[in-house]
Amino acid sequence: MPTFQKVKGTMDVHGHYARVKEKLLEVLRSMAELYAYQPIETPMMESTGLFERGSGDTTDIVEKQMYTFFDKGGRSLTLRPEYTAGVARAIVEEKLYANNDLPLKFHYDGPLFRYERPGLGRYRQFTQFGVECVGVDSAWLDVESLLLAVESLSYLGFRGVKAKINSLGGKASREAYRKALVEYFTPHVESMCEDCKRRLSTNPLRLLDCKVESDKKIAAGAPNILDYLVEEDKRRFEETVAYLDLLGIDYVVDPGLVRGLDYYSGLVYEINIAGKKDYGAVLGGGHYDDLLSELGGPSLPGVGFAVGIERLIASYIDEGLDAHCDPGLDVYLMPIGEGAYRESAPLLIEVRLNGYSAELPPAPGKLGSYFKRAERAKARFALIYGDEELGEGKANLKDLEKKEQVEIDLSKLSEELDAHLGREDEHVI
Ligand code: ATP
Ligand code: MG
Repeated sequence: MPTFQKVKGTMDVHGHYARVKEKLLEVLRSMAELYAYQPIETPMMESTGLFERGSGDTTDIVEKQMYTFFDKGGRSLTLRPEYTAGVARAIVEEKLYANNDLPLKFHYDGPLFRYERPGLGRYRQFTQFGVECVGVDSAWLDVESLLLAVESLSYLGFRGVKAKINSLGGKASREAYRKALVEYFTPHVESMCEDCKRRLSTNPLRLLDCKVESDKKIAAGAPNILDYLVEEDKRRFEETVAYLDLLGIDYVVDPGLVRGLDYYSGLVYEINIAGKKDYGAVLGGGHYDDLLSELGGPSLPGVGFAVGIERLIASYIDEGLDAHCDPGLDVYLMPIGEGAYRESAPLLIEVRLNGYSAELPPAPGKLGSYFKRAERAKARFALIYGDEELGEGKANLKDLEKKEQVEIDLSKLSEELDAHLGREDEHVI
């Protein structure tokens, strides 16, 4: 028995899984760059008040799921449970809105922490990739974020990506809707779960998001938010939908979609990947109006989404899209005999300096054992030489897939490697 085990709900990332994770993040970042989003990094811990104010103090995340602690200076800090509040805090604090053209467009990725019950696609430390576009209010920018989400998933190879969309409207619409919800749910209050009883007075919109089966049935008959949108919000939603139709984005309007954070207003969306297993939503996002002003900044709107990377990896592997994620090794060196082994270091260094990954066996050995190691390392080529050949400046380069071997001149190693390994296009997209 090892003395220590990983904390519940966390994981160690290595091997193929680590490769898949790298690949997915690389593609997501490159896609966001094509859409002119720039990288941003914010700290993993923030003042607890940021999430209470920003994310909403009556959301499940803030009420139940935060890793909050006091540091040695007595400050209440929280490991970020979501990104948007931190990015908005940075924009306000660094006055990024004043020193740059608007909208500001950022992409980010990294670990998040929520004290949840671990299960399929649900961890206590997990990874998100996300984007925020802040500073300009437009249906196009809302749609562009959703387009990026859909296009990224399609580019990764997922078929039939369908978004669920809804509008939460602005303040006036939500106020009217809140009243209607309270009216609808009040007669059911006795049979609802304890959380919902509380939500009825603190945050009625959250009643639609309850995961308890009997409560879901009650919520199914609740009034439809789209019937409560004021004229302006209705028009905006129509404009959004018209863009989606124009671009051929596959979506379905789901009036029950409310999302788990309080700052959303206007468009909200979610994407599930229909695959072998249901990991829940892989991606969620939407528009917000008051987050920046709530944090002491100017009244600027934003829109953004976040992808759950662990859920994305699980679906990617389930769908068999992960075959080409391991780059493998370019060249495996195979010195024959101890003399050649001792002379190998300069050659190894030269191959690597030319930009090809290379490995030398850990000790001199038989060719058979070298080939087994090369296979396990997914090596594309073997460079085979004895000390005599080295003395003549020669070696054999063997294509391990085609099983073809050629003698090469080591004084032209760089050209020979380029000619045979023919570096593939390095662009991700
Ligand atoms: P859910 O309804 O599944 O709890 P959520 O509404 O809490 O999701 P968001 O806060 O919008 O999710 O986060 C965006 C994405 O992050 C989710 O769609 C999901 O893919 C992922 N995610 C959220 N919580 C977890 C978790 N505990 N473990 C792994 N991924 C998660
Ligand atoms: Mg959740």
